[in-house]
Amino acid sequence: MTVPALTAETRWRCTLCGNLTRFDVTRTARVTEFLHFDLAGESKVEETEVLSETIESVRCRWCNAVDQVELVARPGAGGTEAPAEQG
Ligand SMILES: [Zn+2]
Repeated sequence: MTVPALTAETRWRCTLCGNLTRFDVTRTARVTEFLHFDLAGESKVEETEVLSETIESVRCRWCNAVDQVELVARPGAGGTEAPAEQG
């Protein structure tokens, strides 16, 4: 079973126990970071640009099920709060 990709209107839900809020996510990401060095040579990441990202697995923190998540609508998604774009 593959992990469904999240969107602005959806969230994960564990299909076994119903957990919506706690998951361990294993992912690989390719990023470009802006490192800002001070005069002592210490660096700090000030900007991160994610070039690509792949979620490898999602484990439920409640029941330890791996990749047993489905997409469900977020609260308010498609409701009256967000005005729908016309055209
Ligand atoms: Zn679960």
